[in-house]
Amino acid sequence: MSELYGGVETGGTWCVCAVGRGPGEMHARDQFRTAEPHETIERIAAFFAGAPDVAAIGIGSFGPVDLVPDSPTWGHVTTTPKPGWQHVGIGPALRERLGVPVAFDLDVTAAAVGEHRWGAGQGAGSLCYLTVGTGIGAGLLIDGVPRHGLVHPEVGHMRVDRDRERDPFDGCCPVHGDCWEGLANGPAIAARWDRDPEDLPDDHPAWALEADYLAAGILNIVLVFSPERVIVGGGVLEHPPMLGLVRHRVVELLGGYLDTPFLHDEEIDSYLVAPALGDDAGVLGAIALAERTLIEGRTGRA
Ligand code: ZN
Repeated sequence: MSELYGGVETGGTWCVCAVGRGPGEMHARDQFRTAEPHETIERIAAFFAGAPDVAAIGIGSFGPVDLVPDSPTWGHVTTTPKPGWQHVGIGPALRERLGVPVAFDLDVTAAAVGEHRWGAGQGAGSLCYLTVGTGIGAGLLIDGVPRHGLVHPEVGHMRVDRDRERDPFDGCCPVHGDCWEGLANGPAIAARWDRDPEDLPDDHPAWALEADYLAAGILNIVLVFSPERVIVGGGVLEHPPMLGLVRHRVVELLGGYLDTPFLHDEEIDSYLVAPALGDDAGVLGAIALAERTLIEGRTGRA
């Protein structure tokens, strides 16, 4: 009987906790709104106190976060605009409360790991998992391992080309205004058109503009990181025409420059794909991170 692992996804809106080994083996699961830090950490600890024992837990948190293993603020949420959550040490707090090894990463990176292990990213040597909802974020993996670098990738805050005559909207990023996220996240669509995006009909010009912005950012990721597959999810991309529009626009913007069938009309549908694990990608990825941490710790490769 192999070990059980715990997974925690602390998203900007929802917090998901689970115990298991993978998609077919979830032994407990709970989901609640992400409240202020103390209440949220207590609720996570209470979930694990009432669940089967776990050998390690993985946490996928909204960011930015500190991922440097020997940093005094490892496992902390750092400069987030989310009220009350600046410089909160969720990783150390749960490690202390639960007394087991803790793996810690961004929520989107955990989702990327989950999709790579069990979902739409299986078999991809390099993978980008992009989510577009209340924010824009991406997890980047090489051989299934998160790519961190100096801090961690923050693709949502890159700059993309914009035409102020076509789109005079100033953008809604509280730090940068019209960065990619500020122009193209769900709240930007709602603010620009003064309507809930779900109420916008499929032929509304909002969607063509949105597809142009998303394709511009995705093309930048493709050109810089050269992923073998790109998974695109989140509420904005679940709107029916979006995935097709974005695929078409990515091919168009690239202009045939790269000599691979995946970036042409014939195979773009198998390159730029929807997620397969739904709302559980993050928490499953957190479980996979927990398992890896334990294995690496035991073999001295941590
Ligand atoms: Zn920004």
